[in-house]
Amino acid sequence: MTGELLVDYEAAESLDPRFDRLVLANAPLERLAEGFRWLEGLVWMGDWDALLFQDLPNNRTMLWRDATGASVWRAPSHYANGQTRDLQGRLVSCSHRRRCLLRTEYDGALTVLVDRHNGKRLNAPNDVTTAADGAIWFSDPLYGISNDYEGGVQTSEQPPAFYRFDPASGVLQVAASDFDGPNGLAFSPDGRRLYVAETGDQTRPDPKQYIRVFDVGEGGALSGGDIFHRISPGYCDGMAVDRDGHIWSSAADGVHCLTPRGELIGKIRIPYRVSNLCFGGAAGNRLFIGGSHTLYAIYLNTNGAAP
Ligand code: MG
Repeated sequence: MTGELLVDYEAAESLDPRFDRLVLANAPLERLAEGFRWLEGLVWMGDWDALLFQDLPNNRTMLWRDATGASVWRAPSHYANGQTRDLQGRLVSCSHRRRCLLRTEYDGALTVLVDRHNGKRLNAPNDVTTAADGAIWFSDPLYGISNDYEGGVQTSEQPPAFYRFDPASGVLQVAASDFDGPNGLAFSPDGRRLYVAETGDQTRPDPKQYIRVFDVGEGGALSGGDIFHRISPGYCDGMAVDRDGHIWSSAADGVHCLTPRGELIGKIRIPYRVSNLCFGGAAGNRLFIGGSHTLYAIYLNTNGAAP
């Protein structure tokens, strides 16, 4: 199903003239597929000309193509959440239920990349991204083991943190542990900055809604970590970065576009809370958006940063 569910030519809301050149006046927000529970882990598979994404509470991974629409690609998904591809193009998925990073090999077999830190089980890896040196960075908050909706209640064995995992050496390092709910992660196009969302406990008054920014040094050494931007309304669950370094962040009212200085310059209005998003399409100029239970996309006048 495609092409028949054009929903909104006015979804782009400019808050600053710099946003106007990033959007296309004749490109509508498209509703691509629906009938899911909660979308996550959007990742573009250019060699397949397809999008993979998670229908997380339904424990299944979906595949979407322009010509054929959405179909189940893998079930069970092991309650997978965030996803990325490694430098060899293999899919790497965060599994809530199995509390690990899963890599899908070329033949479809699953390999547990990492599931423990200091001998104790991870919590529930939530989101993941790959650095230019092949290291895999992921967040490990408590969300995925704190209720029965997204994988099942389990006992935490260690505090929330985000990590750098080197698949070549097998070394897992805590990148930062002063995080209350580490969530989405993304690198700047030059790889010298790492943006990490901190989303805390959203049931409390005045919850954390931050994107923090780190400088990335030799061997993945981090410095900084200051608050870069406070998302409102909602919080940053996931983000994608374009070629010029704009950060496209999820929020409660859609997608927020931030400059590399942290200024909010525009929004793509979505009728539902946005979970995660990614750039894709043959030219990398199509932003795929998980809007709660519905998959959206919009063509932009920019392209995703090269992976
Ligand atoms: Mg997340």
